[in-house]
Amino acid sequence: MNQLGPIFSNGIGAPTRYARVFPSETGIGENLTGMLGQLARKAAARFLPSFKQKRFLVDDPNAIIRDDNLSPMSSFPGPLRLPAGRNAMGQFIIPVGSTVQVSRVQIKNGRVWVFAAKPENEQAYGWTSPLNFRGRFYNETLSLAKAPPPMAIATDFEKKTVVDKEALLRDQDKGFRSTEKVIPRGSLVLVLRKEPSATYEYVRVAEVVEGKVIEKQMEGWTAVSNMQEGWADIYGPHAAWRYGNYLGQIGLANIVGTGGEVKQVAEHTLEAYLSLVRAAANDNILISLNSGFRPYGKQAELKRTVTGSIVAAPGWSNHQHGQAFDLRSWRAGKKEDNIDYQWLEKNATRYGFVRTVESEGWHWEYRPDDAERLRKAGLYGTWMEAAAEGQGMEANGGC
Ligand SMILES: [Zn+2]
Repeated sequence: MNQLGPIFSNGIGAPTRYARVFPSETGIGENLTGMLGQLARKAAARFLPSFKQKRFLVDDPNAIIRDDNLSPMSSFPGPLRLPAGRNAMGQFIIPVGSTVQVSRVQIKNGRVWVFAAKPENEQAYGWTSPLNFRGRFYNETLSLAKAPPPMAIATDFEKKTVVDKEALLRDQDKGFRSTEKVIPRGSLVLVLRKEPSATYEYVRVAEVVEGKVIEKQMEGWTAVSNMQEGWADIYGPHAAWRYGNYLGQIGLANIVGTGGEVKQVAEHTLEAYLSLVRAAANDNILISLNSGFRPYGKQAELKRTVTGSIVAAPGWSNHQHGQAFDLRSWRAGKKEDNIDYQWLEKNATRYGFVRTVESEGWHWEYRPDDAERLRKAGLYGTWMEAAAEGQGMEANGGC
C-alpha cells in the first residue's frame, strides 16, 4: 500500500520509507490532549521525502527544461550532451516518454519545481515542472516542520500562555470576585504568586521582543484553568484549534497539492491521508489535495474573503487540527459521472475518511470511528446517506 500504482510511478517507484518511532522522538508537544494527542502518538513517523529513489514518467510533450532561475534553457553547459529534443519554440524539452528521477525540489511562489535527471547515470536534464509527469507529483511529501517547542527563554518566574477567551482578572480581597478586565487570549504571562487552593494564580503579562522578555502593565489574579504551561504562539503557523479552543502546537508536512502548489498536512494524519490517496492511485484514480491543514490566520482570511460556501470561523474549522481534507478528483464533472468521486464514495471509509458537509462534495474528514460505523451499516460515508439513515453525524462547522 505504500507504493503508487503503475500508472503514476511508471511501476518502478521505491517503497516510501516511513519508519515508526517512539513518540518522544517526534517532537510532538507533550501537552496535547484528547483526540489530537492520541493520534499524534499513534501515527508519529520519522519523515523522509517520498520522491527520493522513485522514478517518474514524462507524459507531457512540452516538458520544458529550465535553469536554476526556472527560465527555459537556451544552451547546455560543459560536457553535457543533452538534450534530445526541442519544442516548436526552440526550447529544450525532456522527450515525452522519458523516465526521470528527482534529486531535489525548489518552491517558488508556493509552487513546486523539480530537478530532473536520467536515472541510469544521474545525468541532469535540469529543472522542470512536475506537472509534466504522469501523476503530476501529487501527494509527494517534501519536508516536515516539527512542532515548535515552548519558547526557551529564561525567566525568574514560571511561564504560562492564556488560552481561554475570557480569562478574567480577579480581586483577591473580594474573594476572587471577577473584575471587568480580561487578559487577552494568547497572552504570555509570568506566574508571580500562587494561593493555597491552587485555583488562581497572580500573573503578569509579558512580551518577547528580539529574544528579551518585556514585562507589561497588566497583572492580577486569574484562574489556573485559563492557562497552559509554557509560552507558545497560539495563533501561529503550527497552532492547532478545535471547537474554538487552542489545542497545542503540531508538526506539519509539506506535500504537493493540486496544480503543484505546496499544501500542508498535520503530521498525525499524514499516514492516513497517504494511505487513502495511494490506494486510489493503485486503482488508477488520481486524488490531489486542494486544502489540508490551515493555520489560524489563513482560516481568518478565508472567512473574510470567501463567499458562496460554508467557511468556519477561525478556531472552528476542522482544517485547523488535521482532520479535514479538501480533495480534488482529477476528472471533472458531476458526481454522478465522476469515477474519481465514485471511488472515494465507495472506498474512503476503508481508510477512515468520511464526507461531512452536505453541500461540499470535496470536504472529507479523517474520522476512523465514524467511518467504521458507517461502513458496518452498509453506507458509503456521504453526509447525506448518514443523515438519512439516522446515523447522527456530528454537526460540522463547515470547511
Ligand atoms: Zn474543507
